Amino acid sequence: MQQYDQNNIFARIIRGEIPCHKVYEDAQTLAFMDVMPQARGHVLVIPKCEAVELTDMPDDYLQAVFNAARKIITAQRKVLHRDGVVQLQLSGEQAGQSVFHYHIHLIPGHIHELAKH
Ligand code: ADP
Repeated sequence: MQQYDQNNIFARIIRGEIPCHKVYEDAQTLAFMDVMPQARGHVLVIPKCEAVELTDMPDDYLQAVFNAARKIITAQRKVLHRDGVVQLQLSGEQAGQSVFHYHIHLIPGHIHELAKH
C-alpha cells in the first residue's frame, strides 16, 4: 500500500502552496475544479487529513467528505441542468490513482461521456 506523501499535490493545495479553483470548503474538507476535467463541471472533493485512499479514512472525515459531495452534487445539477453525476474514486496505482491523497471525482454527465472512458 502507498505511503502518505505530505508533499503530494493535494496536500500542497490544502496548505495553500498551490492555487486551486475552490468551490467548497469547511473545517474537514475542500472541493475544487479538476485541472483536466473529464466533463464540464468536474469537481474533486478531498479531506483535510492524511489519507491515501478509502481504507485510510477516519469515519468523521469520510462522513464530512460525503456530506460535502452531497452539497456539491446538488449545486452541479442546479447549475448544469443535468441529473447524472458520476462519483468516482480510484484506490491504488493499479486502479489508475495518480494523486495519492484520497479524493472523490464528481463528474456531471453519463459514464460513457467521460473523456477517459
Ligand atoms: P487519474 O489521474 O487517473 O484520474 P486520480 O483519481 O488520482 O487519477 O485523479 C487525480 C485527478 O487530479 C486528475 O483528474 C487530475 O486531473 C487532477 N489534478 C491533478 N493535479 C491537479 C491540480 N493541481 N488541481 C486540480 N486537479 C488536479
